[in-house]
Amino acid sequence: MPITPDTKDWTWVLERPCAECGFSSAAVQYDEVPALIRRNAAAWAPVLDRADVAVRPDGQTWSALEYAAHVRDVFRIFTVRLGLILDEDDPLFANWDQDATAVAERYNEQKPATVAAELAAAAASAADAFAAVPVEDRVRTGRRSDGARFTVTTLAQYFIHDPVHHLHDVAG
Ligand SMILES: [Zn+2]
Repeated sequence: MPITPDTKDWTWVLERPCAECGFSSAAVQYDEVPALIRRNAAAWAPVLDRADVAVRPDGQTWSALEYAAHVRDVFRIFTVRLGLILDEDDPLFANWDQDATAVAERYNEQKPATVAAELAAAAASAADAFAAVPVEDRVRTGRRSDGARFTVTTLAQYFIHDPVHHLHDVAG
């Protein structure tokens, strides 16, 4: 699957708009992020209702169900990472192999209604968590295993591109 692994450097999205989905992470104001999360999550509900939700368009592309399960996990993982940044000084994030997770968790065999409910819950938690960070704590930092360092603000800007991009992937 051509999903970009976490280990590949996507931090360029903080510097220029994404040519594929058109989203500009750098232009996102922190205070917009919770609403962007909620709006994105709402848009996945009709996608997961599609009759062909588990059908891969071709051999190289995830099904909408797989993208949705991935986005659910993105909401979960970035909520965890935000918690680490707030609880620890400059924590090192555990690596996340997105492709391995998709296979190990059998994304395409999960029930669409369950994924929809879990995605909505994970998005609500993420939106609440990012919304709750006081302005003075948004400069706190955390690190990825490849050396990329994020503040709370750049983590929010970086992370929100992922669900937006994948909604674009499934033309939601
Ligand atoms: Zn994009």
